[in-house]
Amino acid sequence: MIATSDFLGHLNPSQRRAVEHHCGPLLVVAGAGSGKTRALTFRIANLILKHQVNPENILAVTFTNKAAREMKERIQKLFSEQLAMQYHSTKFDLLPEYEQTKLKSQVYKNTIKDLWCGTFHSLLSRILRFDIEKYQDEKGRQWKRNFSIFDESDAQSLVKEIVTKQLNLDDKKFNPRSVRYAISNAKNQGFSPKELERERPDYKGRTIAQVYGIYQDRLAENNALDFDDLILIPVRLFQQNEQVLKYWHHKFRHILVDEYQDTNRTQYELIRLLATNGETNKSLWDWDKRSAFVVGDADQSIYSFRMADFRILLEFQEDFGDGLPDEETQTMVKLEENYRSCENILQAANELIENNTQRIDKILKATRGSGEQIYAHKADDEIAEAEFAIHQIRTLERENPDINWGSFAILYRTNAQSRPFEDILVRQGIPYSVVGGLKFYDRKEIKDVLAYLRALANPADTVSLLRIINTPRRGIGKATVDNLVNAAQELGVNLWEILSDETSVNTLAGRSTKSVNKFAKMIGDWQTQIETVSVSEVLQAVLEGSGYIKDLKTQGTDEAEDRLQNVQELYNAALQFEEDSDDVSLQAFLASTALSSDLDNLKEGSEAVSLMTLHASKGLEFPVVFLVGLEQGLFPNYRSMNDPAALEEERRLCYVGITRAQERLFLSHARERRLYGSREPAMRSQFFDELPEELLTTQSRRRMERRSKSPAFAVNGVDSNQNWQVGERVLHKAFGIGEITHVFGGGKKISVAIKFSGLGQKIIDPQVAQLQRM
Ligand code: ATP
Ligand code: MG
Repeated sequence: MIATSDFLGHLNPSQRRAVEHHCGPLLVVAGAGSGKTRALTFRIANLILKHQVNPENILAVTFTNKAAREMKERIQKLFSEQLAMQYHSTKFDLLPEYEQTKLKSQVYKNTIKDLWCGTFHSLLSRILRFDIEKYQDEKGRQWKRNFSIFDESDAQSLVKEIVTKQLNLDDKKFNPRSVRYAISNAKNQGFSPKELERERPDYKGRTIAQVYGIYQDRLAENNALDFDDLILIPVRLFQQNEQVLKYWHHKFRHILVDEYQDTNRTQYELIRLLATNGETNKSLWDWDKRSAFVVGDADQSIYSFRMADFRILLEFQEDFGDGLPDEETQTMVKLEENYRSCENILQAANELIENNTQRIDKILKATRGSGEQIYAHKADDEIAEAEFAIHQIRTLERENPDINWGSFAILYRTNAQSRPFEDILVRQGIPYSVVGGLKFYDRKEIKDVLAYLRALANPADTVSLLRIINTPRRGIGKATVDNLVNAAQELGVNLWEILSDETSVNTLAGRSTKSVNKFAKMIGDWQTQIETVSVSEVLQAVLEGSGYIKDLKTQGTDEAEDRLQNVQELYNAALQFEEDSDDVSLQAFLASTALSSDLDNLKEGSEAVSLMTLHASKGLEFPVVFLVGLEQGLFPNYRSMNDPAALEEERRLCYVGITRAQERLFLSHARERRLYGSREPAMRSQFFDELPEELLTTQSRRRMERRSKSPAFAVNGVDSNQNWQVGERVLHKAFGIGEITHVFGGGKKISVAIKFSGLGQKIIDPQVAQLQRM
């Protein structure tokens, strides 16, 4: 067996307890940056290394695909390090590169590829690829394994079509976006169209339920699912079919969930079913060699608009811990040290969140030095605000050898705020990436090409067929398409059945007959190949055979050139997918493209300034963070101004933003701002007033500091007592010279441990003792 003591040494005692907790339920609650994700990652490694758990029996849920990738890489590295010691008696990093690669690929093959680690959506789409054919919805409809996943924009257009074309509703009264949102909410609460109608019997509710019903029909006709179905259907399937549930329950012996505070009821139900096999009789729970391990922070619950509910986290112990003798099982571990942020940043975050009433108080202590003060900046307008941030970025990058462009993040409340920052970054030639801008897979050309692939994988996918039937143009007019579609509807079959039947086409397609038959033959030929050739080969055949590339080339515009490059990038993504994945089927590739959420950027590991919304920043960390647009009505947003619960959620969002920063934090607001077209005066955010003033510095104070040529901490009397750092040498009146070995607490409650020569270690309140720095 491999020695594990090594890697567990990188954990504190509480983390270690969580990691080593072998069986039963465990909740890890802790503030930001306390190493929750780290504990979860190490726990997976420990289960496999120490307890010989088969990686196949582990299910780990992360919030983004990127987080899942990072987690797998981390585990791969931990294992490779262990093997390096075992095989070569040396550190992994000291091995020649080819040995490193060899070890890593061995670990991948033996461990990582069998691990089920991903987002709820990606994990469940995998489960459905196995078992969806055993599911029936309330109307007895069924789906096939090669189902398409309709992404948000597909779902939107479907709803829009139903609202405006099929039902001829007034789209002001029934805004397709809001209707789509209402449908999604209904699904997240587990309501069928009928149940929604019962729930909301007024005209509006009934109409939405009607749209929902038709929407479901259309999904079923296309053998397609939307994102919500990917969660809801497994839950229903597990409830319907005991055999299926038993199988997955048996397979997943250890379930781990990160960011548990943002789970919704359906996701909760799923975890519960998988963990307990649906048993309500707790005495039947077999926790032997099973565990449910969730980590989270109720103060970071920021997705209530997607029905996330942090009470689920608060109820974990009660829900999962019942029936277990207290003395036998511990069901909660708290982590109280923050390893991420300098103390000033952490203290600001802690004080801010204390303004929330709906929370459980917890301790979060800094382990790092106090760091620099937080810089608060008032700009004239949004452009000056962007200029300020980018000026700071340039200066810090130039002056600090340890800092590169990738060290910076600019966080904002709404996507629309990124533009002025982007303008300046482009002008100054600074590399940057916007997380959650227009998603790569949402671009027109990418959607076109993927529609070809979807039509190959799932011929029932009429939405995709209609997208490509005349793209690029091949002389199939709208009237012909309507004829074909109507015929399919009359007969109650899907469009492909008409298209693939030459006789029907000859009858229906008029002047376009030849083109339609040619198109159908092309698609049909490819369909027969998808089982035998690789995804990248199919893609290449499609790109060339469909005339898509040729069409872009003949256009010859800059825009077409751009599109061409994106299509090329998609081809690269397919190659990458083939290299990285266990399941390399076309269906798996399509699932990975549909589920690449807006939080996952295609370009990774590049040294670029990151721009993203606060929501997207969850779980991440950066040496330098700019939190911009801190204005009343923007952040907190206007909807929360008269709604205390919503305001608390905005505050949690601010807490998330602040706690992303490791070394430096800049907060800014503008005096006036042009947003959504009009220029308005802006008031600085109330969140500023909730931060301790002594932790903030402003421009004028900075200038003063520079003039006085003294270090920052000496300017302000209060501060001088707060910036004590481990390793500093100090003079105490009675005990003489000593060295600080530990700093406890913060603000006025600070105390320090000092080691005096000959006297040992003493804990002292520096405000009382009047320590002098040496
Ligand atoms: P968040 O609430 O933001 O998701 P978290 O609790 O998941 O934060 P991590 O991201 O796991 O925290 O850890 C924060 C940082 O602290 C990371 O850089 C991590 O490597 C580091 N860290 C965690 N635990 C330790 C430890 N015991 N010793 C040193 N560094 C640690
Ligand atoms: Mg985390």
